[in-house]
Amino acid sequence: MKLPQIGDWRDFAGLARLQQERLPAVLAAAERSPFYRKRGVAPLPEQPLTTKQDLRDAYPFGLLACERADLATYHESSGSSGEPTASYYTESDWTDLAERFARKWTGITAADTMLVRTPYALMITGHLAHAAARSRGATVVPADNRSLATPYSRVVRLLHDLGVTLTWSLPTDTLLWAAAARIAGYTDFPALRALFVGGEPVGPARKARIGRIWGAPVVEEYGATETGSLAGECGHGTMHLWADRAVFEVQDPATGELRPDGRGRLVVTPLYREAMPLLRYAIEDEVEISYRSCPCGWHLPAVRLLGRFNGRLTQLGVEELVFGLPDDFGVWFWRARYDDARVRVEIEVADRWRAAAVGELTASLRAALPDVEPTVVPVPPGGLVPHRLLTATAEVMKPRGLFGPGEDWDSALQYY
Ligand SMILES: [Zn+2]
Repeated sequence: MKLPQIGDWRDFAGLARLQQERLPAVLAAAERSPFYRKRGVAPLPEQPLTTKQDLRDAYPFGLLACERADLATYHESSGSSGEPTASYYTESDWTDLAERFARKWTGITAADTMLVRTPYALMITGHLAHAAARSRGATVVPADNRSLATPYSRVVRLLHDLGVTLTWSLPTDTLLWAAAARIAGYTDFPALRALFVGGEPVGPARKARIGRIWGAPVVEEYGATETGSLAGECGHGTMHLWADRAVFEVQDPATGELRPDGRGRLVVTPLYREAMPLLRYAIEDEVEISYRSCPCGWHLPAVRLLGRFNGRLTQLGVEELVFGLPDDFGVWFWRARYDDARVRVEIEVADRWRAAAVGELTASLRAALPDVEPTVVPVPPGGLVPHRLLTATAEVMKPRGLFGPGEDWDSALQYY
């Protein structure tokens, strides 16, 4: 199967033609899965949404459209409900997945060493970056996340000693590395040339701050375990949807109407899926899609990720104000709690900047949210991100039976 590459189409009309030519094959593939056979397959504009609940109800293989023997990987994500959502891919699905992730404006080359710091367990994210880097000949350092084997102290040691050039992680993780590196006494990472981040929305102020802390560009990526990479940043700072590999629509939350652009909930129809075709999958993220030309010349729609809303207050909104503080204040970690009329924001800040940081953040919160009374509470470094998280070393991992005299067997990993 030949997959489209950026440059294969000349304008948005060419992109739309490419999608239309591909759609019959997508509908035919969907008809091979029990879920869509039962539901019925109609041309896209008449097709009902496929919801996250549909995917949960189809667990584990209700959406399988190929032989089990042809599967290459099986993944799960679990939302707040705790019910598993399964997704699975064939080898040829993986070619598409890896190519989409590898579309980084910085390039990924054989000379690169890429540290993959997102989870490998069941989710797709770690494997996605791993496969993309391997496909370009780069050296992968599979650091994983939420693993006892790679605490932050070990991550910064790897970043430093191996001359890691590229990283893939949550944006927040890069700040934790910076804090851990400072404690460990590492001061320079000259080989680092880009930080790939995804998995949570990141605003321009935080992104720019992370870039200044590390002295390397921050390249954003957006996707999901059920779909792989859906959008990535171009060299001009625009997030582009991979609309040559999927059809994107937005659903107006008020009317339920679907449109190709505007603001609403993202709906995705992947165009190259063998194992698990999805038609109009409602991904539940708030976005804004626009078709406008970008100096990069990719002719791919731009997308803004808006995150979840809580009335006037958003995570991104507060984050922008916190990271809008001067760099000198060194405020990297915060948390906030709100009710109707008040918001309490805690920030980690060193003594000497405490008064200035509290004053500036209070003023900017008041200006941005005139109806909400802010209280900014400074906590000393280590108050939100404990130092032991940043300095802990790897623990014994394998269950053990035999211990020497004086060895602490109560803190070793037990069989149970
Ligand atoms: Zn662009």
